[in-house]
Amino acid sequence: MIRIYTTQKDYNLYRTNLTHNSVGIVATMGNLHEGHLSLLQKSIEENTVSVVTIFVNPKQFGPTEDFDKYPRTLDEDLNKISNIALHASAQYPEKEIVVFAPKNIDEIYPIGFNTIISVGGVTQSLEGAKRPTHFDGVTTVVYRLFKIVNPSNAYFGQKDYQQCIVIKKMVEDLSININIHILPIIRNSDGLALSSRNQYLSESERSIALHLSRTLKQIEMLIKNKKDYTSLISDELRNNKWDYLEVLDSKNLAFPQNQTKELVIIGVYKLGSTRLLDNILVSNL
Ligand code: AMP
Repeated sequence: MIRIYTTQKDYNLYRTNLTHNSVGIVATMGNLHEGHLSLLQKSIEENTVSVVTIFVNPKQFGPTEDFDKYPRTLDEDLNKISNIALHASAQYPEKEIVVFAPKNIDEIYPIGFNTIISVGGVTQSLEGAKRPTHFDGVTTVVYRLFKIVNPSNAYFGQKDYQQCIVIKKMVEDLSININIHILPIIRNSDGLALSSRNQYLSESERSIALHLSRTLKQIEMLIKNKKDYTSLISDELRNNKWDYLEVLDSKNLAFPQNQTKELVIIGVYKLGSTRLLDNILVSNL
């Protein structure tokens, strides 16, 4: 069954009766696609109650970014979640799906809210270097959602890899008792990672966008074959519209060392005003 709450007060009334159940959270900004739904499926498998939050978080957008035009499609989102709930109820009749979709921003940031959760180190490079206030916005909202929803498990997509590392660091540093699960990137059949921002692309941009996943794949092949990938990266950065393209230690986003076990090939490709993120994890052994 699916329950929908738009205020903390109503959600709290429900949550206080759940003391013995495991609760999974899938935090989203809505406009749900198969990527988001894969996180929900996993949460349903692993928890009695799965809470999908839908909140377009103003704090993680920079002043010139797309907060106003970010797609808001609550009715379609609820239909997609209901569909999943319907299938899940046949397999797991005892499980519940909850949607927490605050209507008002002050449900999350009450008037006078004046706290920032800010992780150091891993937030300074890549997305953090390009979008200086972004991760403070992400960690502040995720912390708020964790406090409100009170989950045992949280599900995030590898698609936003640096975000996953930042959230893991926040959870570790603040001793937050929530298991963080990072799930694989869901892609279109042509390789493009699903993203709510793909719909900003024109038809011609959509086909140019494939250069992103193809380049990451090329670098992956070079790494697997123990060949040099640095000249390919330099050529790409010189000739194409990358915000960044790097191969880093997947654990801490530092420059890889000999003992690095796993690498992340991570890049942002720019098409007009749209920035497309993607990454691949590859063993370094
Ligand atoms: P968003 O609504 O964009 O903030 O994303 C909510 C969650 O869905 C985040 O944990 C994202 O990493 C995850 N997500 C977004 N796109 C994908 C994808 N293509 N595959 C898997 N997870 C995704």
